[in-house]
Amino acid sequence: MTKAMQNKYYYINSEDRLSKEELLFFKNELEEKKEKIQKNLDKTTKELNANVIGDPKDEADHACLAVDNLTNNAIVKEQYNTLNQINRSLNRIAMGTYGVCNLCEETIDIERLKVKIFAEYCVSCREVIEKQR
Ligand SMILES: [Zn+2]
Repeated sequence: MTKAMQNKYYYINSEDRLSKEELLFFKNELEEKKEKIQKNLDKTTKELNANVIGDPKDEADHACLAVDNLTNNAIVKEQYNTLNQINRSLNRIAMGTYGVCNLCEETIDIERLKVKIFAEYCVSCREVIEKQR
């Protein structure tokens, strides 16, 4: 067993890990977000398609789309991005690694997770990573 693995087991069993209730809270939050984004994406995709075939539902939609299709695509991209992050986080919850720093494997502070629900690094590791960029 490598040292990193030992650390992981240690932290997974340690008491400062998120409780089942806390994990459930984040899971619900994530699933809610996911649902919203999927609805949004469905809507945006329909609007984009409507624009392509030149048959918008009403004038306002048409004007809005005509103004900047690029913006719309950027929003779609952003939403897919967020969706990916949500799926990653949900996966981490399922694997039991949610709330554990990817780098040092310390438990990420719950207050930080409440602000940044997709956080995969603790504050100090995040700082190190950002400095490297
Ligand atoms: Zn860390």
